[in-house]
Order: sequence, then C-alpha cells, then structure tokens
Amino acid sequence: MKRVLAVAVLLCLQAMAGTSHADSRLYGDPTSSSSLVASNRSVSGVSSDVVVRKDRGTSVRHERVTYSRGGSKSFNSLPVGSYSNGCLINGIQANSNAPYYQLYHPQNNRHFGDITLLNFLDRYSRAVHKAGIESVLVGDMSSRYGGPFNKGHASHQIGLDVDIEFSLRRLPKSKLETKGNAVLLVDRGAMTVNSNFNRKYYDMLMIAAHDPEVERIFVNPAIKVAMCDMTKDEREQPYLRKIRPWFGHAEHFHVRLKCPAGAVNCVRQDKPEPRYSIAQEKEEALSWFEPKQEVKPAQVKPADLAARLASAKPKPKQGFPEQCSIYYQSMNVSVPVKKSTRR
Ligand SMILES: [Zn+2]
Repeated sequence: MKRVLAVAVLLCLQAMAGTSHADSRLYGDPTSSSSLVASNRSVSGVSSDVVVRKDRGTSVRHERVTYSRGGSKSFNSLPVGSYSNGCLINGIQANSNAPYYQLYHPQNNRHFGDITLLNFLDRYSRAVHKAGIESVLVGDMSSRYGGPFNKGHASHQIGLDVDIEFSLRRLPKSKLETKGNAVLLVDRGAMTVNSNFNRKYYDMLMIAAHDPEVERIFVNPAIKVAMCDMTKDEREQPYLRKIRPWFGHAEHFHVRLKCPAGAVNCVRQDKPEPRYSIAQEKEEALSWFEPKQEVKPAQVKPADLAARLASAKPKPKQGFPEQCSIYYQSMNVSVPVKKSTRR
C-alpha cells in the first residue's frame, strides 16, 4: 500500500508541478472591487513592476508598506517565481490581532504573505464568520523572504499559499503555540471522513472555493469525496473543481491564490483540466484510493537502449530565480537548503 501511495503522490507531484508560463498581465482585475495603481520601483537592484492596491469598502486595509530596512523607504510586496521555486519580496506579516482569524504557531515565523493573501484572509474570515463559524485558524503561510523552507512545505514560497486549520472556534491564546489543536476530519484506516466532519467544514471550503482570487485548494481525497456527496447542484461543479484531492490535509486545507495582477515574474500554474459533472469529480477523488496496476518494465534491446541514451539531452536544472538571488543577497540572507517533505 505504501508503494501505491508513493506512486500516486509522485504522479500527482508531476501533474501539479505543471508547465507554466510567466504572465504579463494588464493592470486591472475585473473580479475585484479594488482600484489598482501601477508604479515602478527598484528594490536594491531588483527592478519590478508593482501594484498598489487600494481596496474600497473594506474596513481593514493593508497597504503594502509594513516592511522597511534600516529606516529606508518601504516597498510593496511582490511574489517572484513559482509556488515551489521562488521568493516573496517584502512579505507582509499577517495581523496577530485580527477580529476573525488567529495565527497558529506564531513562533515559527511563517505568517508572511503578499498583500493579496492578507486581503484574502480578511475577506475570507469575515465571510466565514457570517456563515456562523467563529474564527479561522491560520496555519503556515510563507517565511519572511519566501523561498524554500529548510523543513516542511515544498510550496508556500511566494506568499500566495496558506494552510487553514480545521477548527471552528477561537482558541485561547495559550493554545496557539502548542500542537494538536486542529480537528482531524479523516478516518485514515477507512479512508473516509470521520464523525467530526459536518456542514460547517463544507461551507468553510466552499466559501474559499467561491473566492475569485483562489486558484485551487488542496484537501484529503476523503474530504473531497464527502463534499461531492453533499453537493446537489451541478452549478457548484466548477467550484468543487478548484478543490483538489491530495494526501495529508486531514487537519487543514491549503489555499493557493492566483498570481496577482502586476506581478509579472509570478509563474502561473496551469488550471486543472475541467470535469463536467459532480459524479466525475467524485470518481477522480475515489481514484486516489485505488491500488495502481503493477507496470511491467518494457523490454528494450540493449543496442537500442545504448543509442537512445547516447542521444538523450540532460534536462536543464531549474534554478532559483535570479531576481530572488539578488533580493536575498541584498537582504543578507542565504537560501535555505531544501529538505521539503510536504505541500
Ligand atoms: Zn500547505
């Protein structure tokens, strides 16, 4: 079984890594009520187009200005590179006194994000609160400069990923720094949701999926199956589609935002192929539990193989984006050695 899971994870890692392309977006976002002002600034040799976002109608406003070095001018946050290979220029620290969300394990210093992620947390936690959920428990986001972690996540590198713990209530402060306070929703042996799973968790996930800036959400396949069973209206299928099955994710779900407008060096991820019905969504989630067929190695003639190996070109290694190296140098920090084990 272990091997089967490893193969499934590997296949999915390959699929998720996807091939993406840099997006030179226009300034402007038709789905948002914000006005966007373009400006061009230089961060210690990193010249980048940035966008100042002024949200109308939100009572909490995050300007992109919280981080400054040595009293110098402050700059806007900017995601650079891909979700699993990049950095976050001038990441903004999430609010530790927000009315409707709390930061889980603040001692780990992993609550930095792009302005769009901070705005998402405000917007999302308010929406969830309105739906009768007391508070959102915010797990890991990115580290201060983004980039790889020395332990843990493979992604979370550019300030657009956040883990949201399964929890409906506000925790006492003393519990925020300790482990084991999120709610487990999956019966790992039976590969189904357990009795903790209820409509509120469904709402929590669907509210996130309906947010126009959310690109995709990762949950345990058992949770995806349960959500398919609970969804009766086929018009919800495109939102269910954003909710992607992934092992782990039994005590939290992972929200990934789109590359924001103006972040020209943010590498977009390809959209998951569309499925057209809830039944197909369920079928796909269930396939995570199927044992994979054993593949017999193909027989190749040794001479044939030698010729093919001789003509093969080595794939170029994907390096750390140059803008990120420049930024790290200017901040006097070194790139952590990657020993990542999970999303
Ligand atoms: Zn995550």
